[in-house]
Amino acid sequence: MSRELSDKRLPLSALGHKPQHLVGHIDAASLEQAVAMMAHAPQPAQVDVTAQRDQGKLSVQGRVSIVAPLVCSRCLCEFDQSLEVSVSRQFVSGDDPVAESAGEVRMEDETTYLKDDVFVLRRMVDEELVLAIPPAPLCREACAGICPGCGVNLNDEACVCRDEVEDGPFAALKNLRLTGQ
Ligand SMILES: [Zn+2]
Ligand SMILES: [Zn+2]
Repeated sequence: MSRELSDKRLPLSALGHKPQHLVGHIDAASLEQAVAMMAHAPQPAQVDVTAQRDQGKLSVQGRVSIVAPLVCSRCLCEFDQSLEVSVSRQFVSGDDPVAESAGEVRMEDETTYLKDDVFVLRRMVDEELVLAIPPAPLCREACAGICPGCGVNLNDEACVCRDEVEDGPFAALKNLRLTGQ
């Protein structure tokens, strides 16, 4: 049986130096932001990370994976995409000095500041999955998409409206332009 880790929290200040191996799963209901980007609720995310305190910081390394039901940005069909995320994060207690003063988002620095001193596993997993979901998912690299003219899914059917356009009023215009050059 896989361990349910949705409620796993580690208070940083009370943590010993012994590494904690967190292996199990997190249900979709606990991954609100990532699931909001999916077509429907997925099977639980699989988690295999080691959390270790290292000089006042909590270092979290390992892997997170899920089979994400996504909607193709070209043909709008649903498809499953396996996401494998390699996690390498650091957490410290306190307010983020940079965010407080400048409000900047730091992309390079992997350190996350925890105002309430508590590391919440499902929150980190949710963030990692949000970043792993492609901004414009594709069901396949060569997805042909939907014809803007007749609306057929070009992966399944041949479009007929293009032929009509060729014979329409613009066909003559196109020929004219070609001969004029
Ligand atoms: Zn597609
Ligand atoms: Zn068409």
